[in-house]
Amino acid sequence: MSRPPVLEFPIPVLRTGEVCEVVPGVHWLRMRLPYRLNHVNLWLIEDGDDLTVVDVGMNLPESRETWQAVLSGQFAFRRIRRVIGTHYHSDHIGLAAWMCETYDAPFYASHIEWCMARSLGIDGTQSLLDAQRDFYARLGYDAAQLARLDAVGNAYAAKVIPVPPVMHRLRRDDELTIGGRTWRVIAAAGHSPEMICLFAADPGILIAGDHLLPSITPNVSIYPAEPEGDPLGDYLGSFAPFRDLPEDTLVLPSHGRPFRGLHARIRQIEEHHADRLEKVVAACAEPKSIVEMLGVLFDTELNDHERVIASGEALAHVRYLQYRDRLAESRVDGVLRFRAVG
Ligand SMILES: [Zn+2]
Repeated sequence: MSRPPVLEFPIPVLRTGEVCEVVPGVHWLRMRLPYRLNHVNLWLIEDGDDLTVVDVGMNLPESRETWQAVLSGQFAFRRIRRVIGTHYHSDHIGLAAWMCETYDAPFYASHIEWCMARSLGIDGTQSLLDAQRDFYARLGYDAAQLARLDAVGNAYAAKVIPVPPVMHRLRRDDELTIGGRTWRVIAAAGHSPEMICLFAADPGILIAGDHLLPSITPNVSIYPAEPEGDPLGDYLGSFAPFRDLPEDTLVLPSHGRPFRGLHARIRQIEEHHADRLEKVVAACAEPKSIVEMLGVLFDTELNDHERVIASGEALAHVRYLQYRDRLAESRVDGVLRFRAVG
């Protein structure tokens, strides 16, 4: 099969806080984030006289101000009919409860994402912090790095208002009618356990959450709650329902610009991970801890927040290989080490 040389980006880049209509009735709002990844894309879909909002942004005062400006401007006479959260991460649903309460709107999510958001959002227990400390100690963090993580505590809860205690559950293949279009739910695992993507056949548009991004690959990480998970296996096994969509589908990603070239992007992502997996195997000719692996996989200086994400990603690659008999695990002084086998 011939491959398109590049992805197409038919819509000019937006500034943060700006809104643009990407297809009739579907609007893109670019919201600022205080990270190297400096924005998240949110979607407002006209729904009769109302609006359905897909993702709301992080719990930051400026995000609320942006919403207040947007909703008192061109959308001033519209009610919010529902708020859909694609997945539990703070940059997507941190403000969902605020929006649901302020605008008296119900919250829609998949069951697992809602459970994750609700439980992590309200977990103030010491056992959570103990599990976090044990997990990162096993990855090879030093005492100073562990102490800084302890000091932060539950980093998730700091950026999220706990999602509403009541929700509408979205399941794979559910169909939602929004603004006269039928949107089919595609559930995707890997970046998060049960991310909701939404596909409308007419015209072909896919709200892709973080599952398919145009210029970065979504972070696929292992976190303290499931140290022996295989999210990279989940992720690489998740593409079948997306391959069934037309190649000219307009993909609306949560970061970066809307693009065309869905199948080409899937191939690029598969090649990216195949390269990284081989790098990990080569590096593990000598046993390596996860912290030692960071220098192999990442060529930039990492701050504490970035190190957590990067080490979770390194562990996801290592576990993937371990479960496919390419690496073996051992433990030295409480730190996990992985060595290539065969
Ligand atoms: Zn995410």
